[in-house]
Amino acid sequence: MARYRGSVCRLCRRENLKLFLKGDRCYSDKCAFDRRGYPPGDHGQRRGRKPSDYGIQLREKQKVKRIYSLSEKQFRLFFKKAEKQKGITGTNFLMLLERRLDNIVYRIGFVDSRSQGRHFVKHNHFTVNGIRVNIPSFLVKIGDVIEVREKSQKIKVVIDSLDAVVRRGVPQWLDLEKEKFKGVVKSFPVREDLTMPMQEQLIVELYSK
Ligand code: SF4
Repeated sequence: MARYRGSVCRLCRRENLKLFLKGDRCYSDKCAFDRRGYPPGDHGQRRGRKPSDYGIQLREKQKVKRIYSLSEKQFRLFFKKAEKQKGITGTNFLMLLERRLDNIVYRIGFVDSRSQGRHFVKHNHFTVNGIRVNIPSFLVKIGDVIEVREKSQKIKVVIDSLDAVVRRGVPQWLDLEKEKFKGVVKSFPVREDLTMPMQEQLIVELYSK
């Protein structure tokens, strides 16, 4: 599937939820969802028909895929990985998504969004345990140390993101040493650590068809 290149704020309006895809702007009064919290398009303000079960499952899948800024192919690959693990597939799936390096650098506060995280990871701005890693889907482990490379510590986006991270906070399973441009994975996240409204069971049902 081609990468979405349109306005990401439309995605929030489509999903009827703030997806926080634009960094600090999402916390300001410029947020498009706060201003126009109805679906985009000419008929956005019309009351639609009651969605089918399939429609509800599909919307949930699209929402979570957009939260993590992934393509259908990447999303599906991770789902397959979760299916092979022991335990509850839906929970495993979300936990795997959380452990991706592009998500971690966003969660720690080195970048403003997950899509920016992917871009920065690909351009070699971070190390994991002292080794350069440029694979956004790289899965971190407990104890891994993620750092901004010295030459990248002067980048304005990184400095601004670290200043702004106080607004969204660093999850308790991660640790940030802001002055050292360094983060540590203290533990793996548990389901309760994810505060965005996500009904992963609907995605499992959709992909089981
Ligand atoms: Fe969504 Fe608002 Fe952020 Fe735009 S600014 S991506 S509408 S939360």
